[in-house]
Parts: sequence; structure tokens; C-alpha cells
Amino acid sequence: MHDVRTTYTLMDGRKVAAEIKSEIAAQVLKRRDAGKKIPHLAIILVGDDGASQTYVDHKVKACKEVGFHYTLMRFADTISEERLLKHIDQVNTDPDVDGFIVQLPLPPHISVEVITEHIRPEKDVDGFTNRNFGSIVSKNPLLLPATPNGIMELLKRYQIHTQSKHCVVVGASRLVGAPLSMMLAEQGRATVTVCHKYTQNLAHHTRQADILVVAVGKPGLITGDMVKEGAIVIDVGTTRVEGPQYKNGYTLKGDVDFASVAPRCAYITPVPGGVGPMTIAALLLNTLRATELSHG
Ligand code: NAP
Repeated sequence: MHDVRTTYTLMDGRKVAAEIKSEIAAQVLKRRDAGKKIPHLAIILVGDDGASQTYVDHKVKACKEVGFHYTLMRFADTISEERLLKHIDQVNTDPDVDGFIVQLPLPPHISVEVITEHIRPEKDVDGFTNRNFGSIVSKNPLLLPATPNGIMELLKRYQIHTQSKHCVVVGASRLVGAPLSMMLAEQGRATVTVCHKYTQNLAHHTRQADILVVAVGKPGLITGDMVKEGAIVIDVGTTRVEGPQYKNGYTLKGDVDFASVAPRCAYITPVPGGVGPMTIAALLLNTLRATELSHG
């Protein structure tokens, strides 16, 4: 029988992201005083998906907070892939735009891979392109994938060292799980286990984790009995669950059953307020970096 820990540290992504944003805002002021270019982020939003609109609103708000210029480009969900590619060409070659993102998901008739690969890697501030994915293993990465990099930054700011730790990443998507597992191994020097849909006996693996990261999109997938006492748990999952009991008609749920897992943890991220704000902070850091790389 394990002892049950009654205190855990909540990893406050909002607070850490606010610190990062004030550091970026100071950099922007310095750039302004030195007559250097102010970073400019463009956001492409296709369709009127409510969740995407909310994420874009947060990104626009963050740009305003740090003093970046921003452009929001909206297109109907009937736009063809060919037409969207033409708009991406324009942004790719617009010298005033330093970085841009195409908010996902896209309508089913548009290929995420085709669109993503069309973004110039130097402006790919989400870090989604194959070039930036590959740059995780390079000595001099260009723009690291935003959500994984936000998680690495959150760990750093809580002085959680990953070297020689056993990290278990549940979920192996191209956008989150796969790049994060590489970053934990490469930059974090951790021993990494990657679990996915075909992993047998998931609990056997998650129980080995010093640091457990879950990025699946299945609320409540990880329960207290699946977590080692004293583990660090990062919940990336963000699923909109609707119900009349929630203000606005929905709530956001992580992949981790917080009530049963938190008492076993040393550290845990909440949903919302954990990884989400760190993703936006990482996006801003990438935009600043893209500006520095192209304009000094
Ligand atoms: P995704 O593309 O759907 O990938 C989910 C991954 O989990 C896939 O590798 C999938 O395998 C795997 N999986 C499915 N069922 C599983 C199971 N039972 N056990 C283990 N692995 C399983 O989603 P994503 O883009 O990685 O996002 C994952 C979650 O994170 C979502 O809730 C998303 O909203 C959230 N997210 C949050 C942020 C943030 O900033 N907070 C950013 C990005 C994503 P298959 O591909 O084989 O199905």
C-alpha cells in the first residue's frame, strides 16, 4: 500500500506564461527604442469553429499584451485548398510578416499536411513543418514545435530536471506526442517511453513514469491507480465537453482524472490553465525568434 500524498504543487501555466509575456514585452520595447522591427504575427483562420475562434482570440490578445503587430485573416470553410495555398504564398513572401500560423483543424477537403508543408519554415512559428520537426535533433534548431516547447519551458521554470528521468508520453501525434518525446530525449536527456493507441497494458507503462505527459484527447483516460506516487504529471488534453450545468454551455477537460491523480503527484498541471497558456507563450517566443533571425 502506497502512502497517499496530500499536497502537490499545481503547475500554473497562466502565471508562468504571464512572466514570459512580460519578458517578451520588455524585448519589444527594447527593439522599438533601438529602431528595430516590431514582430508581426499573422493568423489564418478557416471556418467558424467555436473552439478555433476561442484559441485565435487568445492568440490575438497575447499579441496585444506583448506589443506585437498582428493580422487576422479569416476565410469561409468553403475555400479551396488551392486558394488557401495562394494566400499562404502571399504571407510567405510578405516582408512585414515575421511568423504565421494556420489554425487547426481545417475543413476535411483541405489537407493539413499539404497546407503545413507550404509554410516557409522560417515563418512557421507553430513549428509544424517537417523542417522544424527535424530540427529538434539539430544542434541549432530553427523554430521548435510550440506546444512541446511550452511544456519544456514549464518544466524548466519549475526547476524540474528531466535528465536521466523516465518520461512516459501517452499519445504520439505528429503535432504533440511525437515531437515532445524527441525533445525530452534530445534536449531533456531523459529516457523516454512513447505510448499510443496500440500500446498494451497502458497502466503498466504509466506507473513507471517519473514524468508522465498525456496528449490524447480522451477525458479521464489516466486515473490515480495508473500513476506512481510522487510523479510529475503534465496534462495536454483539452476536450470540450458540453452540458447545461456549465457556464457558456461547455467546459474543457484534460486527459487526466484530476481528483484521483493529483493527490498522488508531486506536481500536476490543471486543465485549463496549464499547458494551454504555455503553448501561446511558446508561439510568441517563436515569433520573436523568427523576427530576430530575419531582421536582427
Ligand atoms: P491527436 O492528433 O488526435 O493525437 C492523439 C494521439 O493519441 C494519437 O497518437 C493517438 O493514436 C493516440 N491515442 C488515441 N487513443 C489512445 C489511447 N487510448 N491510449 C494512448 N494513445 C491513444 O491529438 P493531438 O493534436 O496530439 O492532441 C491531443 C490532445 O491535446 C487533444 O485533447 C488536444 O486538444 C490537446 N492539445 C492541447 C494543446 C494545448 O496547448 N493545451 C495543444 C495541442 C493539443 P492514433 O493516431 O493512432 O489514433
